[in-house]
Amino acid sequence: MSIRLRLTLIYTAILALLLLVINVMLYVGQTQAMVRGDQFVIKAEASRIMKAWPIPPPSGGGQIPPDGGPMPPERFREIYVQTRSLDGEVVQTDANLGGLILPFNRKVLLALQQGERPVETVTLGSEDFLVYHDLLRKPDTPRLIIQVAMPLSHRARFLTTFRTTLLAASAIILGGVFGVSWVLAGLALRPIHRITQTAQEIGAQRDFNRRVDHAGPNDEIGQLATTFNGMLNELQDAYVQVEQSLQNQQRFVADASHELRTPLTTLRGNLGLLQRQPPISTEDRADVLEDMVDETERLMRLVNDLLILARADAKRPLRNESIALKPLVTDITDQVKLLAPHRALVCDPCPEEATITGDEDALKQILLVLLDNALKHTPPQATITLTTSVDDEHVNISVRDNGPGIEPERLPHIFDRFYRSDDARTEGGTGLGLAIAKELTEAQNGTIKVASEAGQGSVFTLIFPGAKEATVT
Ligand code: ADP
Repeated sequence: MSIRLRLTLIYTAILALLLLVINVMLYVGQTQAMVRGDQFVIKAEASRIMKAWPIPPPSGGGQIPPDGGPMPPERFREIYVQTRSLDGEVVQTDANLGGLILPFNRKVLLALQQGERPVETVTLGSEDFLVYHDLLRKPDTPRLIIQVAMPLSHRARFLTTFRTTLLAASAIILGGVFGVSWVLAGLALRPIHRITQTAQEIGAQRDFNRRVDHAGPNDEIGQLATTFNGMLNELQDAYVQVEQSLQNQQRFVADASHELRTPLTTLRGNLGLLQRQPPISTEDRADVLEDMVDETERLMRLVNDLLILARADAKRPLRNESIALKPLVTDITDQVKLLAPHRALVCDPCPEEATITGDEDALKQILLVLLDNALKHTPPQATITLTTSVDDEHVNISVRDNGPGIEPERLPHIFDRFYRSDDARTEGGTGLGLAIAKELTEAQNGTIKVASEAGQGSVFTLIFPGAKEATVT
């Protein structure tokens, strides 16, 4: 059942209940007033009749005349009189009653004997009568019980008409209120209907640019429209983000497949050479094997880098520990000096006693990427300088070189996955080093910055949470 119909029915039902209570009160009140009115009328009529009772004095010493004497002449047509002796025997009947006798019982007799004037409702034939009982006490007149009756058909007729009128009026009012409530509920719910329609259209067309158009006041419906539009804003942002990340993911998978295919194709070609009949010369075979080792190493590096990035994408949590800066830097520089003993690598100024908050393995990996790049992308005579500085909240580590630098137009792209210079491409660079360094740095709440000038060299700076004079392990 719709809310509109439910609201309409609720309003109508409440009104129906109210009308029922009012109608019952009116009907009962009217009935009681009529009963009181009828009793008043019959009592007044009875006393008038009794005052005017024209029974002549009895001829024989207090005996009741056998015909009971004449009936009082002036009375309303609808008032009937009947007399009974004190032991209840009918003395006179009213000719207007058409031969019917007004009933009488012991209870009434007892009440009369106790001085009461009982009024009873009796059914005579098919009609109800209100009957007043009293004792006729006239001087020189035998004592009689007088029954004055009045038909109640007028009351029944009036009450039936009254009931029908009340029911008809209530039905008309209820019908009218149902119609008005239906229209009003429809008007009140129209904005909700519009919101529902917009939501359905957005769902069907996947058009998150649409908004609910509500120009009304900021009432409950206005707030619903505002909340709905706010939710659409969020949904649109989320949708754009998901779409972008899906596109990035697809590009990444396509790039990764492409990168993996190159060494695999080379390996497949080399295996073909080794299988050739007649076999290739021993010298060529040695070259092919060397080439295969290089390609396999490249493949391993690439798979390793892809694995690191996949883990970073999955937001696998890194450790969050205090790492002493000095041993970390010493360890890394020693490692690099072993790999490139002829290169100039200096530490200036050398690290202070400080700690970084992060993951040691990840930190080493980042520094190795930066130092490896400085070695790879600069001529052998270039100098690489490692600088550290510490303030109250941060530890900064910079890797500076005086190599060829990076052109301004390439600078914004160097952290992109698979982005590399043409030289790096031929030298077997994967283009993933800086992307990994950035992911790992940010995963430890750090930032990575680059400043470079073509022909002057480059500076990569890492900023990590950390502090001076912390406990050194
Ligand atoms: P890769 O080193 O495998 O090519 P990276 O993501 O580490 O990939 O680097 C991306 C590109 O940034 C490199 O190809 C290179 O062109 C440039 N680059 C990075 N470091 C330096 C540097 N120290 N000097 C000059 N160019 C650099």
